[in-house]
Amino acid sequence: MNIAQPVNSKVTGVSFTFYDPSEVRRMSVKQVVNPVLLDSLGNPTKGGLYDPAMGPFTKNHLCGTCSLSYFNCPGHFGHIELPTPVVNPMMFDALYRFLQGCCPYCHKFTFNRVTAARFIAKFRLLEYGLVKEANDLDDLLPKTQSTITDPETGEVIMAIDDNHGIDSDEDMGDEAKEVVERVGQDIDGGKKAGTESSDQYIDRINRFVEKKLSTVERSTYKVTMVNDARRQLIKSLISRSRNQSCQNCRGPVPKLRRDGYLKIFREPLTRKQQAVQQSKGLSYADVLHLDMAQFVKQSKEKQQQQQKQKQKQQDELSSDDSDSESSEDEDMEES
Ligand SMILES: [Zn+2]
Ligand SMILES: [Zn+2]
Repeated sequence: MNIAQPVNSKVTGVSFTFYDPSEVRRMSVKQVVNPVLLDSLGNPTKGGLYDPAMGPFTKNHLCGTCSLSYFNCPGHFGHIELPTPVVNPMMFDALYRFLQGCCPYCHKFTFNRVTAARFIAKFRLLEYGLVKEANDLDDLLPKTQSTITDPETGEVIMAIDDNHGIDSDEDMGDEAKEVVERVGQDIDGGKKAGTESSDQYIDRINRFVEKKLSTVERSTYKVTMVNDARRQLIKSLISRSRNQSCQNCRGPVPKLRRDGYLKIFREPLTRKQQAVQQSKGLSYADVLHLDMAQFVKQSKEKQQQQQKQKQKQQDELSSDDSDSESSEDEDMEES
């Protein structure tokens, strides 16, 4: 925005974020390349940290960029090009916490996609200040009429009657939690008449969110309360992502260790975990030689394929249903 031509408008919100490298370069008046601050006469060196382009060095100097005096120059940003990527120390704690819950093979959070869908749904509701609705989502459990069976052994592992009596994710009984996790892992096997597949359940969650979001405007909510709820949610996301094996690809997840704000080490797997890793044919990606562009392209293609499949399924479903739900499906796809 050009501050010389003010726009008559009302501020509706403020958000904070970090500059990306291209923005830093555009803002910068000088690339700092010289590690020497002052020359032998005590004057600032060219390309050093005290380069006159970033502001006058003493009261007698003028600014190299705006030519104003020591008192009037606002000071200007310079930048240093780093030879290797460096993690912003402010972000390191968060990075480390999230990385501990990430799968080194499929690069997702180690919880299953149903749990992920529930977290996404809650974050979306909180984004619009819908704290109560986010809590209501805890009551939205997968439909299980009678039993869920283990897809591998065929044993009955769960038997519940209905979806009532659960207040919040923290109070959510182990039973209910397990149902959510089971349904998340249950992709083709272990399905009984009356039970919902994970896709159907995720669809139901998304429809719930769309319905709630369609009734609100974004700006009217109490910030503190929502922030508290969001903080709690992030906390529970982090604790739920601490799994010894990934619930998506079943790969064993190694422990991590950090060294200050600089390095993260991957601890070796236990012997048992190594055996699992070998039997599944999994191996770590070499991060130093990872072709990020290729990786992003691949995962995007995969996502598109999944979406196409989902659309197909939905089309089939909506042609069967004569409910009003089909219109809600369309709303959801637009977003
Ligand atoms: Zn200046
Ligand atoms: Zn995985």
